[in-house]
Amino acid sequence: MFDRASVVTPGGVNSPVRAFRAVGGTPRFMVSGTGPYLTDADGREYVDLVCSWGPMILGHSHPEVIAAVQEAVSRGTSFGTPGEGEVALAEEIVARIEPVEQVRLVSSGTEATMSAIRLARGFTGRAKVVKFAGCYHGHVDALLAAAGSGLATFGLPDTPGVTGATAGDTVVLPYNDLDAVRAAFAAHPGEIACVITEASPGNMGVVPPAEGFNAGLKELCAADGALFISDEVMTGFRTSKAGWYGIDGVRPDLMTFGKVMGGGFPAAAFGGRADVMAHLAPAGPVYQAGTLSGNPVATAAGLAQLRLLDDAAYAKIDAVSAELRSLVGDAFTKEGVAHTVSSASNMFSVFFTDQPVRNYDDAKKQEAFRFTAFFHSMLEQGVYLPPSAFESWFVSTAYDERAIERIAAALPAAARAASEATA
Ligand code: PLP
Repeated sequence: MFDRASVVTPGGVNSPVRAFRAVGGTPRFMVSGTGPYLTDADGREYVDLVCSWGPMILGHSHPEVIAAVQEAVSRGTSFGTPGEGEVALAEEIVARIEPVEQVRLVSSGTEATMSAIRLARGFTGRAKVVKFAGCYHGHVDALLAAAGSGLATFGLPDTPGVTGATAGDTVVLPYNDLDAVRAAFAAHPGEIACVITEASPGNMGVVPPAEGFNAGLKELCAADGALFISDEVMTGFRTSKAGWYGIDGVRPDLMTFGKVMGGGFPAAAFGGRADVMAHLAPAGPVYQAGTLSGNPVATAAGLAQLRLLDDAAYAKIDAVSAELRSLVGDAFTKEGVAHTVSSASNMFSVFFTDQPVRNYDDAKKQEAFRFTAFFHSMLEQGVYLPPSAFESWFVSTAYDERAIERIAAALPAAARAASEATA
């Protein structure tokens, strides 16, 4: 299948992080998923620690989500008109996340951040955007400078095809460094439209914000008249019922969402202050649109998933994550591998260093070659990890004892492989 794919698709994949280029080998082609398990085209079963890069928070093929999709699909797949499903999904988001007074649905996280930035520029009449090295906000031209995720995986500083004019309005700063943000506002007074940050970054590995960092960003933005955009595409509806906002309570002007809110379908959103959102077409002059925005099947899946995500669901995910973090840490300690299990709520990843990781430069100092050996050992033993040392691991409510035991059984050999790996 990979040979076939490589003929008709660049690199054989439709999103770079799915390829195994950072770790070597052939990507697995999955044919089905049930609960915490994926089955590949060769009939091998894996415990899934990727969860489709976040969306599958209830595990695969959750019966209630599948039923909602089937019911929606039976009525048609797209109307190009308003529909009740999109209103209900928007109401659910607004009800969960207090700073979101209004929301606009789109089809991908990339569209959400792209549109939020356009709106911030339109609202403020300013051009510059501040982002942080190692934070990934989708493949928006202006945001690909020093981005994490696939760019971190492949060691790309940025990408050809983004013009100097576009990149020139992006100010890239080190993460967790409020002094750098202060200096940027001092250097460009009245020119910065917005500061965009991952609410708690998961695209350079998991690097949580230092105490007071998000609050400091909010304050500095407010003092200069810039907007504070919190990108919750990854953390939204995952790290708590109200995402990372539910944990740190810092009130952004705009927020972006994706992944979990689509229930495995292409649905994403941006929203926030009503006075800012009022600038969006057709209410205001800032244009933004989408043929499939608010698609009835995607909104049915997202709504069904969100409605199942109650306090008990988050307690379960948090408990599974804590158990796995401790199993993973113990396995590396036993083999004498320098490591840090870094977590933010139930998101976590491993850095192969015992030094603190507070930003992208720190993350890059890890011994990533150890991850390659670890990854392949886990894969051979039926555990599917993100194929990169710079990505968050994701768990779901569907994890059972068998899934956790499978991971626990695979860890000793994989930790040994990491300890024996050479650069
Ligand atoms: N923002 C963050 C924080 C993300 O993690 C991602 C994707 O991983 C995006 C934006 C882009 O979302 P999408 O891949 O749906 O375009």
